[in-house]
Amino acid sequence: MLWPWRPKSDKSPMAQFLLRVMNEQWDFQIKDVRKLQNDGIAVDCPGQQDIDKILERISNNPSLQEKIKAIHVRQNFPKCIVYGLEPEFTKEQMGEALSQSFGEDHKDLKVLFPIKGRTGKMHWVFKPPVTIYRQLRRRQKLTINWETHKVKEFLSARKCFTCQSLEHTASHCTAERTFCGFCTENHRITDCISRRRSCINCRKHNYKYKTNYRTDHASIDHTCPIYAAKIKSITKNTIY
Ligand SMILES: [Zn+2]
Ligand SMILES: [Zn+2]
Ligand SMILES: [Zn+2]
Repeated sequence: MLWPWRPKSDKSPMAQFLLRVMNEQWDFQIKDVRKLQNDGIAVDCPGQQDIDKILERISNNPSLQEKIKAIHVRQNFPKCIVYGLEPEFTKEQMGEALSQSFGEDHKDLKVLFPIKGRTGKMHWVFKPPVTIYRQLRRRQKLTINWETHKVKEFLSARKCFTCQSLEHTASHCTAERTFCGFCTENHRITDCISRRRSCINCRKHNYKYKTNYRTDHASIDHTCPIYAAKIKSITKNTIY
């Protein structure tokens, strides 16, 4: 949730409200409170029932209702990738392996999808609760069936498979031609026979903003500065 916060004043309606409820009896839980740059205050609650209770209290108070506007924001939670599992390893097995590793604390843990590795092994992407994510960041490994597997944060940006833009997906694409994510020519990447990498996103950016980005990489490469900037903006909205 986001709340308007009066800048340069610690007497904002929401801050006052929070202070008051802190002195009263709590019938809801707050996980975290952060002041935001854009005059807001972010309040993280463990569950919807907590949010509902806060909103109810505000709506019962006409003067608060006037001053505080609640906005729900979608927050990103970090995802993880675990490397090197056998191809026949199933989603259910992955779920079981994770819940074995983390015991009771696994109900918010979500197995997402597998990615085929270059050596024929599979990597699995999953979304752990933040507490488990922090453990994994420290450990950087996970034991599954007595084998140790490397674990990292999984970062990815959605992109358009037609024109390679990171600002929309293919269903919203208005480009008239297809651009290859490897070589920039007008074919699909699956039809690409080129050996020379060329990044359409960096080429467009250079043209439009007179920048000097190198273009001798594929737009699907994570070394692309435009891709890196996109990932950075995603991590900014992620709760770690
Ligand atoms: Zn597009
Ligand atoms: Zn190509
Ligand atoms: Zn690039």
